[in-house]
Amino acid sequence: MTQNPRRQFLTQTAALAAAPLLAGVGADAFGQAPTRKLGVALCGLGSLSSNQIAPALLKTRNCRLSGIVTGTPSKAAEWKQKYNLSDKSIYDYKSMHRMADNKDIDIVYVVTPNALHLEHAMAAAAAGKHVFCEKPMEISVERCQQMIDAVKKAGKMLGVGYRCQFEPNHLECVRLAKEKVLGEVKIIDANFGFGMGDPTQWRLKRDLAGGGSLMDVGIYCLQTARMLTGEDPVWINAAEVKTDAVKFREVDETVLWQMKFPSGVVSNSVCTYNANGLAGFRAATTRGWFGLEPAYFYNGNRGRRSDNTEINIPVSDQFALELEDFADCIINKKPTRVSGEMGLADVKFLMAIYESIKKGRPVSLV
Ligand code: NAD
Repeated sequence: MTQNPRRQFLTQTAALAAAPLLAGVGADAFGQAPTRKLGVALCGLGSLSSNQIAPALLKTRNCRLSGIVTGTPSKAAEWKQKYNLSDKSIYDYKSMHRMADNKDIDIVYVVTPNALHLEHAMAAAAAGKHVFCEKPMEISVERCQQMIDAVKKAGKMLGVGYRCQFEPNHLECVRLAKEKVLGEVKIIDANFGFGMGDPTQWRLKRDLAGGGSLMDVGIYCLQTARMLTGEDPVWINAAEVKTDAVKFREVDETVLWQMKFPSGVVSNSVCTYNANGLAGFRAATTRGWFGLEPAYFYNGNRGRRSDNTEINIPVSDQFALELEDFADCIINKKPTRVSGEMGLADVKFLMAIYESIKKGRPVSLV
């Protein structure tokens, strides 16, 4: 389409004239409404924050890294220099209440071990900040509810870090399911796992993780089944297999489970801390199938359909997409699609899977 030169001139001139007013504000491309960049403080500077979230923040159109919460002084110094952070925006876990005075921080992204999410989310909410919390939201339904209540009481927004809810290849599969492009989805097979290394890490400690492979990676398979069906499971049957009773003394190693959904869809999943090479899903439909393999990686997720069509939509950065959406929701006062209620529901279903393992029989959820 040819652009109207006058209109182009006017939008460019208006953008230039507005430039001084936009100091500290991220202006969009010429002609678009300017977008304020929301300040994000990362709480917990481990692997995910360092390797994925902080680099992703640099790519977002409406967020910026404006603070950190860490218990390690050497990390504070390193991050301060690397990301040009001011002294007033560096906190430890005990001083988060001081954020109340810091206008540079709008959102606290909680990226600590699972069982610390509530404490850190509550501290952020009490300081008047929006909360974005990594998955799994917490280690019990009650603790998820406490988080929802605390953020609601503060009048702030709560979101859960379900990156696949923004991954275009996953969204294409949801479209295929919804529009019945290859017929109706009947059976879903979703699996995710990795070989757990360091036997001393928090992921193997019940107090901090709440569970093992199920809480960590099984949750992705649960999310896939819920996304593709648009429904909640009404029946769950599960079993656990442990081959290393020392390493996995406190948490599950491998979990196998099935779920039934109200429409009659059945899902089947395995998650594990005992093998690599398991990170995909397939939906069997009345006329064929579709799926992603890999489905759950940070990059390079892709798949196929039974009509020989490839599913391979380029993705800029899943973490940038989820953060941009959360910031958009705050700016435009819209509800987030990755709500605390969604996070709580998932924890409820994970607990039902553990209940089925414990009882040695299926669990009904109706
Ligand atoms: P990590 O071990 O690399 O980092 C955890 C951070 O928490 C560290 O900086 C550690 O110092 C800090 N911490 C604070 N108190 C602690 C304590 N008492 N014990 C241990 N560490 C403590 O873990 P990670 O891989 O970054 O995972 C953090 C969170 O992010 C978890 O909830 C995890 O499930 C989630 N996660 C999500 C994805 C995803 O793709 N969305 C991927 C990895 C991890």
